[in-house]
Amino acid sequence: MDDAHRPAIRYVVAGGGTAGWIAAAVLARFLAPSSATVTLVESEEIGIIGVGEATVPLIAQLNALLGIHEPDFVAATNGTFKLGIEFVDWGSIGNRHFHGFGDFGEDIAGLPVHQYWLRLNGSTAAPPLAPLDEWAMPWAAASRDRFAPNAAMKGEAAQFRYAYHFDAALYAAYLRRVAESAGVTRIEGRIHAVGRDGESGLLTHLALETGQKVEGDIFIDCTGFASLLLGKTLGVPFKDWSYWLPCDSAAAVPSTRAGRLTPFTRSTAKSAGWQWRIPLQSRTGNGHVFASRFISDDEAVAQLLDGIDGEPLAAPRILRFTPGHRERFWEGNVIGIGLASGFLEPLESTAIQLIQTGVARIVELLPDARPEPALIAEYNRQTTLEYERIRDFILAHYCRTRRDEPLWREAASLELPETLKHKLACWDASGRIPLYELESHQEPSWASILIGQEAWPKRYNPRAGVPPEEQLRTMLEQRRARLAEAAERMPAHDHFISRTCASD
Ligand code: FAD
Repeated sequence: MDDAHRPAIRYVVAGGGTAGWIAAAVLARFLAPSSATVTLVESEEIGIIGVGEATVPLIAQLNALLGIHEPDFVAATNGTFKLGIEFVDWGSIGNRHFHGFGDFGEDIAGLPVHQYWLRLNGSTAAPPLAPLDEWAMPWAAASRDRFAPNAAMKGEAAQFRYAYHFDAALYAAYLRRVAESAGVTRIEGRIHAVGRDGESGLLTHLALETGQKVEGDIFIDCTGFASLLLGKTLGVPFKDWSYWLPCDSAAAVPSTRAGRLTPFTRSTAKSAGWQWRIPLQSRTGNGHVFASRFISDDEAVAQLLDGIDGEPLAAPRILRFTPGHRERFWEGNVIGIGLASGFLEPLESTAIQLIQTGVARIVELLPDARPEPALIAEYNRQTTLEYERIRDFILAHYCRTRRDEPLWREAASLELPETLKHKLACWDASGRIPLYELESHQEPSWASILIGQEAWPKRYNPRAGVPPEEQLRTMLEQRRARLAEAAERMPAHDHFISRTCASD
């Protein structure tokens, strides 16, 4: 059949949280109205999870694709900018380091900067070196609470990326406007049953409590932890990663804004988990991710409240989760996106990224209403791999710890996945991390976490030993000074926000 006579594929998105609205907006943006219709069903009564306030730089691609105007988006979502994550008390109490998305600037003679840092840091002949973080632009700006995305910077000072913090509920509402203006039809209602074809088992429609039937060809399950289609209807089993990632709960509370706006997320390790601090324009988001085997809800909440700036704005809310993912992300004519398909603790803010890459993969692999088994298999292969890579990176934050509480002792003695074992063995041997297909985090990100936690390799790459030490030290110190000067020229993040993208 030629394209002109092919019936339009009916995409039905179940759920209207971040996952649902991103999926709907991207599908509507990519697919011509003559070839596809996109309908989204959501229930206001059920609502959305409403956490998920920190992102990674990949979101810039989504914004560009959807034609989102940055100042408008930041203002509408009570947003701020994010240059990375400050880790406090990870590795050992008193430790502090910064993961600025791995942006340490250009390699030197083909070797990443951290190799030269390792060399100089190991030298006893000279005064101690500034921390690795200070050689990178993100921390140079973040540590001064300065940032403006359009600051005219040149050379190494311009080599860094940024992301955002935002209010998750406002973000879903914003995406809804974007999606609806791209042609998505929204239907309000609670799904109470799912229709399936008796022969093929494929889904045919969603039945709403209102009596309405929403028919479709491809169903995107974005129903959050309920996993109504992929989990409950199709029974796709869940691969549970609790052995490696013991945190299974979070207590979350917003607080009044206190002090200057910091353009970074803070993650503070606690006795049985870790606490996030996410600055928004008018309030601060706080949460304590914890392992319920090691701490009670009451103690977790007490630790959370003890560690917040400002005054709590609500009673803390407890959320439960199981780390891991559905064994198949795509089954028949159902594809799970967001929490309906899996969840990894938000230590590196990777959930919205996984939504984005999942939807990008749908657009890439889904040419037809009757999906080909080979494409389904490829989708599942890639998505599983991406989850495993991120799991390993998160686990790398835990497994080299020297903290002495039960959670951390257990984390240090885990039998690690083979993939991570191999990466860490290479790191220990030479300060290098081998990378493969579908890695979300490049070598400098790993170096930032491992060096930050003082997980020293046995040696640096011998090529870093080539430049004369004094020359190298001078060159790097000059680079650090230039970055500091460039950061000093940036406006305070507060001022930039209030001038250009203040929320009402
Ligand atoms: P939800 O927001 O739960 O949306 C589910 C939708 O399905 C809703 O619209 C609901 O109404 C609808 N629905 C469900 N059942 C029915 C039904 N029967 N009928 C009709 N509609 C239905 N991610 C990040 O990227 N950064 C972070 O910093 C971050 N922090 C997090 C912290 C915690 C503690 C948790 C738990 C998650 C965090 N996440 C974070 C993940 C992030 O919150 C989610 O990935 C993101 O919000 C997407 O959620 P969702 O759309 O899959 O689900």
